[in-house]
Amino acid sequence: MIHMFLPYKKFIPKCNVRRIEDIDFDFFYKEGKRLLILDIDNTLMPYDQTLPPKALVAFLEGLQRTGFEIVLLSNNNKDRIEPIARALKLPGLWHAKKPLKSGFKKALKIKNSRFDKHQALVVGDQLMTDVFGANRTDIDVCLVKPIKKKTEKWYTRLNRSVENKMLEKIAKKDPDRFFKLDLDER
Ligand SMILES: [Mg+2]
Repeated sequence: MIHMFLPYKKFIPKCNVRRIEDIDFDFFYKEGKRLLILDIDNTLMPYDQTLPPKALVAFLEGLQRTGFEIVLLSNNNKDRIEPIARALKLPGLWHAKKPLKSGFKKALKIKNSRFDKHQALVVGDQLMTDVFGANRTDIDVCLVKPIKKKTEKWYTRLNRSVENKMLEKIAKKDPDRFFKLDLDER
């Protein structure tokens, strides 16, 4: 029911790709993006993995060499996020309460640097938390497909059912963008 009262425009991402590696980061760098605010669960790693694989470490190091600052922003708890952030040598914020704006705003001020919201790009796998929250905060957002849906917790499954309803609503209200973004491929 809740999807009926939410503005569908706030659930449309700037880009939609299969995995984070598919994002055209050079394009976003040229657009002036300097800060990547990354979701962890099912964006960077599946829920059942506790430490980042080497390929992920290398990938994120590559992005930093390109000139991006990275901050991790998760709704999950400290026990989950802190070891991952430490292994990646990145600042991490847990209990972010996405889609509330507060976590995203905190992420902009990371490491004493103050990024403008237009310099940031959010990457996440959920419409209801990552995309909605980023759009509410006026930060561009790329949606990725969840790495492994099977191990999702009950509250994420609940989000997914609302997400599906919202996708139907976007398809109906803005079919051009829906198909241009390949949102039918979710
Ligand atoms: Mg996630």
